[in-house]
Amino acid sequence: MSADPGFAVRGGVLHAEGVSLATIAQVVGTPTYVYSAAALRAAARRFRDALAPVPRKALAFAVKANPSLAVLNLLREEGYGADIVSGGEMTAVLNAGMAARDIAFSGVGKTPEELAQALRVGVGHINLESEREGEVLAAIAVRMGRAAPALLRVNPDVDAGTHAKITTGTSDTKFGVAIGDAPAIYDWLAARPGLSLQGVAVHIGSQIMAPDPLEAAYRRIGELVAALRARGQGISHVDLGGGLGVDYRGGADADVAAYGAMVARVTRDWDVTLLFEPGRYIAAHAGVLLTRVLWVKPGEECSFVVIDAGMNDLARPALYDAWHDFAAVAPNGATMRAHVVGPVCESSDGFARARMIDRVGEGDLAVIRDVGAYGASMASCYNSRALAAEVMVEGGRFALITPRIAAADIRPQTLPEWWQGAALGRAA
Ligand SMILES: *Cc1c(COP(=O)(O)O)cnc(C)c1O
Repeated sequence: MSADPGFAVRGGVLHAEGVSLATIAQVVGTPTYVYSAAALRAAARRFRDALAPVPRKALAFAVKANPSLAVLNLLREEGYGADIVSGGEMTAVLNAGMAARDIAFSGVGKTPEELAQALRVGVGHINLESEREGEVLAAIAVRMGRAAPALLRVNPDVDAGTHAKITTGTSDTKFGVAIGDAPAIYDWLAARPGLSLQGVAVHIGSQIMAPDPLEAAYRRIGELVAALRARGQGISHVDLGGGLGVDYRGGADADVAAYGAMVARVTRDWDVTLLFEPGRYIAAHAGVLLTRVLWVKPGEECSFVVIDAGMNDLARPALYDAWHDFAAVAPNGATMRAHVVGPVCESSDGFARARMIDRVGEGDLAVIRDVGAYGASMASCYNSRALAAEVMVEGGRFALITPRIAAADIRPQTLPEWWQGAALGRAA
C-alpha cells in the first residue's frame, strides 16, 4: 500500500474522501493540513492486523508524528495507546481520552518535573535512557510513595540504514544505554526501591524500509533478555519501538506483514508482552498540505513555483532532504519542469528541485503529499508566519481541527516594563 487511500481525483478535482480540496481551500484558506480519517484507520488496522501472529502486545502511536487531538482520538478508538516524549505530549494524549496506563514515556531529556507528572497520572511505562535517569526517577517515586513502572532503553548498535538525522540505534547516538553495559545497569536499577523495572526498550530509527536492521536489533535484544533472566531478573515487557518506513514516491511501503511475521518468529520464546510504537507508518499517507501557488517566476534552468507553504509549515525537505510528491488540485494533464519553493527567506525552503510536476499557474491550488506524519507537528512560526490550519475529513464531511494561528498569538510578547510608558515615549 502506498498511495494515500484517502485522496483521489474525482471529476477533475483532488478530493479527500468525499470532500473537494478546492472547497476546503475556499472555506479554510491555505496553507492547510488535510487529513483523511479513513486513511488513518486503514493504516492503523493494517499495522494491527500484521501483528496478529504476536499473542501479547500493546500498540502505542508515536505522538510526535502527529499530536493533533482528532488524530489521537481516532487512534484511541482503534485501540492504540501512545508513545510520548514530553509533558506536553502527555497532556495532549490525556486530553484525547487515552488511559494513562496506555502511555509509554520515551525521550532522552525528561525533566524531573515530567517524571513526577508521569508518576502522578500513572503512565504505563517510563523508558529510561540512562542509569542516572533511573536513579532520579526512583528517588521521585519513593518520595511519592509509588513504584515507577520502567523499561531500560538499550542501544543495540545496529545501523537502521536510514537518514543519519533519524538514526537512533548506533553507539554514537544519544539514545539508550550501550547494550554491553545494559546487564550491569539493569541489575543496579532493578535493585532501586521505587523502580519496578519490567524489561527493555529499543528503537533504532525511523523510515526503515528493509526488515534486516530491525531483525538484527531484535535478535540482540532477545539475547539480552535471556542474559538478564539468567541473572535472575524478571522480564515481562519488551518495547520494540517504531521505525517502519513508507514510500514517499508512490511505491511500496515497508512490508508490514513481513515485519509482523519476523517479529513473531524472532520473539517466539521471549514470553513477554511486546510494545510497538509506530508513528510514520500510521499517519504519513493520511495527510496532504494544501497550498496555493503565489507566483510562477522565471528561473535560469526552469521556473520557480512559489507556493504559500514554507519550510516552517513542513520542515522535512529542508531538514532531511525528504522527497514529497507535489500535485495540482485540478490537474489539466499538462506538466512542467520547475523548482517548487516556499516564501521563507532561506535557500533550503524548497520542496522540489527541477522536477516534472503538474502544470500550475498563479492562484492554482496544489498539494504536498504524505505529510500526515512529522508535518504539522514540526511546524514553526519562523519568519513570523502563522501556523497552518488542520482539517479532518471523514466521508463527505470536514471539520477544522486546528485553527490557523498567527505568530503573534503563539508567542505573545512584551517589552521589559522599564522600557514602557514614559521612557519609551522619550526614546521615540
Ligand atoms: C520517533 C519514535 C518512534 C516513532 O518512529 P516512527 O519512525 O515514526 O515509527 C517510536 N519510538 C520512539 C522512542 C521514537 O523516538
